[in-house]
Amino acid sequence: MKITNLTTYRVAPRWMFLKIETDEGVTGWGEPVIEGRARTVEAAVHELKAYLVGQDPARINDLWQTMYRAGFYRGGPILMSAIAGVDQALWDIKGKVMGQPVYELLGGLVRDRMKMYSWVGGDRPADIIASIELLRKGGFDTFKMNGTEELGMIDSAAKVDAAVERIAEIRAAFGKKIEFGIDFHGRVAGPMAKPLLRELEQYRPLFVEEPVLAEQSEQYRRLADSTSIPLAAGERMYSRFDFKRVFEGGGLAIVQPDLSHAGGITECVRIAAMAEAYDVALAPHCPLGPIALAACLHVDFVSYNAVLQEQSMGIHYNQGAELLDYVKNREDFKVIDGYFKPLSKPGLGVEVDEQAVIAASESAPDWRNPVWRHADGSVAEW
Ligand SMILES: [Mg+2]
Repeated sequence: MKITNLTTYRVAPRWMFLKIETDEGVTGWGEPVIEGRARTVEAAVHELKAYLVGQDPARINDLWQTMYRAGFYRGGPILMSAIAGVDQALWDIKGKVMGQPVYELLGGLVRDRMKMYSWVGGDRPADIIASIELLRKGGFDTFKMNGTEELGMIDSAAKVDAAVERIAEIRAAFGKKIEFGIDFHGRVAGPMAKPLLRELEQYRPLFVEEPVLAEQSEQYRRLADSTSIPLAAGERMYSRFDFKRVFEGGGLAIVQPDLSHAGGITECVRIAAMAEAYDVALAPHCPLGPIALAACLHVDFVSYNAVLQEQSMGIHYNQGAELLDYVKNREDFKVIDGYFKPLSKPGLGVEVDEQAVIAASESAPDWRNPVWRHADGSVAEW
């Protein structure tokens, strides 16, 4: 079998799908994207074509190493997201050829169902309590929300109090009937992370995500020493080489590699195993589409330390399309009591509605991250 073609489709809300075709008619789908830089990743995917067309899709390990190493320059969000989508599509092809779901090819299930959580509130969270009420009716009991809006490197007691009061209200409304993580989203710099963590500790969040930016990861150990809240990060780390430094530095309780940003299934299985060796839990990042989510689930179902799966149903970014709009086998993604079942169809287990994808790609929006400004006019982390 030989790879014959790669086709990319940018689609609403801010996703990109990749179809890899073979000379035997088997096709695989992947989701290579960086939110807000879809066109850049698309160019990178097409540059990889030269390494792929004419090659045997079964040799995923060799093709991965070729894409990673043969370009000399490597790593980072663009190149590793391009590799990630190709890798997902190659696993999809392999599974379809073997007639097995990807988790079987990775050694089989380590659990029967996977716990997932729901985003609640948007970028500027307001009526979170009503949203949680609604989502609880759908079976969710675990949530994630943004912790703050813009926050200066040194900011006011009023801003800290506003962030803490919102969390206090949620605990007061629901007690211990729900659990939640709080995403600092890289908006908080080191000087404010410490007081915020200290004030939030009493509300026992499951974790605080990106307590400081990934490029400040040497602070994670110091922050972890100052709080009992488990610290999580990883969506802005792109390979086991990035994660290696974070594991060695210590401080994280949970790593959150993104299956569409960190080299795909091949790389994230390795990152998960590295995490297990450091007694660190896994919670793959996935505010993306159905193929990325399927890739996450196959890794979760073979990784002992996988504790939570993010997913994008109803997320504030999904303007113009929802998680399952491009999926035919929607029943396989049914959420039961806040859990997903294994995707048991051959390959990734996503039957892509290709006609819907093609139609959507004809009017794909160019989604961009908002640009926020502080009161003094300087750019703020979003
Ligand atoms: Mg995040």
